[in-house]
Amino acid sequence: MKNTSTIIPVYQPDCQVNSWKKLLKEAVSTPASLLEAVGLAEHPIRLQLAELSEFKTRVPQPYIDKMTKGNPDDPLLRQVLSHQNETITFSGYSKNPLKEEHNAIPGLLHKYKGRVLLILASACAVNCRYCFRRHFPYQDSLASGAQLENALSYIAKSPSISEVILSGGDPLMVSDSRLFEVIAKLEDIPHLKRLRFHTRLPVVIPQRITQALVDRLNHSRLKISLVLHINHANEIDSLLSEYLALFASSKITLLNQSVLLKGVNDSLDSLQELSEKLFENKVLPYYLHLLDKVIGAAHFEVNTNVAVKLIEELQKRLPGYLVPKLAREEPGRASKTVIA
Ligand code: SF4
Repeated sequence: MKNTSTIIPVYQPDCQVNSWKKLLKEAVSTPASLLEAVGLAEHPIRLQLAELSEFKTRVPQPYIDKMTKGNPDDPLLRQVLSHQNETITFSGYSKNPLKEEHNAIPGLLHKYKGRVLLILASACAVNCRYCFRRHFPYQDSLASGAQLENALSYIAKSPSISEVILSGGDPLMVSDSRLFEVIAKLEDIPHLKRLRFHTRLPVVIPQRITQALVDRLNHSRLKISLVLHINHANEIDSLLSEYLALFASSKITLLNQSVLLKGVNDSLDSLQELSEKLFENKVLPYYLHLLDKVIGAAHFEVNTNVAVKLIEELQKRLPGYLVPKLAREEPGRASKTVIA
């Protein structure tokens, strides 16, 4: 942590709230302005950009700050810069690769036994170009207002459900006060034991980890886990480390899931560095996902055999607890398929 003369004012919640919302509002929103922000406005790569209205560019400044300026191959830039490759449709790729269906109750996905996914927000703070939900109709699938009450009532009437997963759109897009209301309602359901957040927001705007949020989660009767989505060690800069340190003395479990992406993290050194840096920040590597075959993301695909080999080699370099499980999601399966 920095000394108190330079530290971000984490103990002043109002300041913090304004800070993360302002950063969100000011996120870069076109590929051209993103190139400009990283000193590549005149680079030939500008001729390969694609501006896609259905899945726009969205990149907050703290994430841009982690990129190496002037490098068109920067692994963070590659994840968020929209490319003409996204407009090509490849065989085997579809708009809804996991065949996620609308539940009878909007905002609720009951994919796995004992667990339900609750969708509180329709957007994320960043638009990752490989996202399997890039075509997902969030507007029809949001748990808000009466729909949230219906979703909560479904959970309350289903004693087999022991865990709720708040997922994306990013659940931390919701304000702390709204989030705390939802948490309180979930805590009132006696058979619920665990609450999990799937979020990438702190990775692109670390200021989203407010002290109030940490305190509220830490005092929940539910066992809380925060599953971050970090794909590359460069995403963990000193600012993110500072904010992750707020969880250090809490009861909250920090895990990470990544997606294996060509040109981003598909090397042994990159995966090793990521696992080690996660652990330095008290985050355990959990899953390394194979790419979901969504239209627009084919240029990120890493062959399964290559992926398995990477994990086998990683096992030789690292202790078991630092090697993520290589997994794939398959439509209709009751759980992820662990490959290695
Ligand atoms: S944060 Fe997650 S859900 Fe949101 S765009 Fe990125 S990959 Fe998709």
